Amino acid sequence: MNGSLHIARIAGIDFKIHISFPLIIIWFGVSGYLSGGGMSAAITNVLLILALFLFVILHEFGHALTAKLFGIATRDITLLPFGGIAHLERMPEDPKEEFLVSIAGPAVNAAIAAGLFTGLLLSGFFNQPLVLTELLNNIWMQMMVANASLALFNLIPAFPMDGGRVLRSILALFIDELKATQIAANIGKALALVMGIAGFFFNPWLILIAVFIWFGASTEAQRVETKIGLRGLVVRDALVTKFHQVEANQPLSDVIQLAIATDQRYIPVVSNDNFLGIIRRFNLIKAIDRLGGRAPAYAAIDVDPEGLDPETPLEEVLPKFATHPVLTVLDGRQLVGLLTPDSVQQLLLHNQHLGDGKIKHQSTGESTDVV
Ligand SMILES: [Zn+2]
Repeated sequence: MNGSLHIARIAGIDFKIHISFPLIIIWFGVSGYLSGGGMSAAITNVLLILALFLFVILHEFGHALTAKLFGIATRDITLLPFGGIAHLERMPEDPKEEFLVSIAGPAVNAAIAAGLFTGLLLSGFFNQPLVLTELLNNIWMQMMVANASLALFNLIPAFPMDGGRVLRSILALFIDELKATQIAANIGKALALVMGIAGFFFNPWLILIAVFIWFGASTEAQRVETKIGLRGLVVRDALVTKFHQVEANQPLSDVIQLAIATDQRYIPVVSNDNFLGIIRRFNLIKAIDRLGGRAPAYAAIDVDPEGLDPETPLEEVLPKFATHPVLTVLDGRQLVGLLTPDSVQQLLLHNQHLGDGKIKHQSTGESTDVV
């Protein structure tokens, strides 16, 4: 995440904190001081917020170290102002593993809460007459409540909370992954709806959490649909193999005519069959403004060749779209086809709507031809 400082490397995992973190600590200290408690209140406040963040970090390490047991690395653990994130390289495919990885975080907090409870019990804290304010002012009690709340809040059975994944992994033991995800996502949305409505009457924070959960549920359902839809498909299946291309020294005015005539969004530029790169239609006007209509096509190239292996699973290729708007398959220096986010989506839609006529993995031949 941007704006994060690297602090340490623990058990092979980079630990980072958001740059706003020191400000939050100062803010808590100052507000304690101003509340009338003076220096001691300021120190208590700072210690409490540090302890709270420590519990969040331990929660994240619970996920990360459990994932490590199943051979899944964690890129980093980042502490944000509103919580922590463990960036796992991937989620486990096996529902039992997903269950353990997801529940490990809340389990850490539950264990700390139980430990604190036992400590308080043994110290005779609960033997004294129970006065609510005394209970709430005790720092160990506060830490116990904080951990119990962290465990319970994260176990809300809705994506993107841990509880959503726990629920999905339990359902996935009995039904297929897609159905399990859809049911878990719908339960999450129903909960979000209830929370959102309750928020209007009780606490606006609930509305914010409800929105967070609603979108988390939708995103997760879609992610799994895409993942499952792409299963078994390779680059070749979604490859655009029919397109028009331009010669490197053709003027840009020709290129724009071609773009209009064909409605093609990505225009390959070649020189004697050697593929040089791609001009994106929406950048073409800017290029003509800058270079003039008589400038050669190669001067406007804005996507460099990225040679894909046509047999690579689509699932592995998709992350490349984050840095490359269009990907290419080459044979030597010759362009064989283009892979675009649209062509992948077309393939997915096609397969969703034509159950039996599904495009399956093809080892030879042409596939979709939409640019
Ligand atoms: Zn968690």
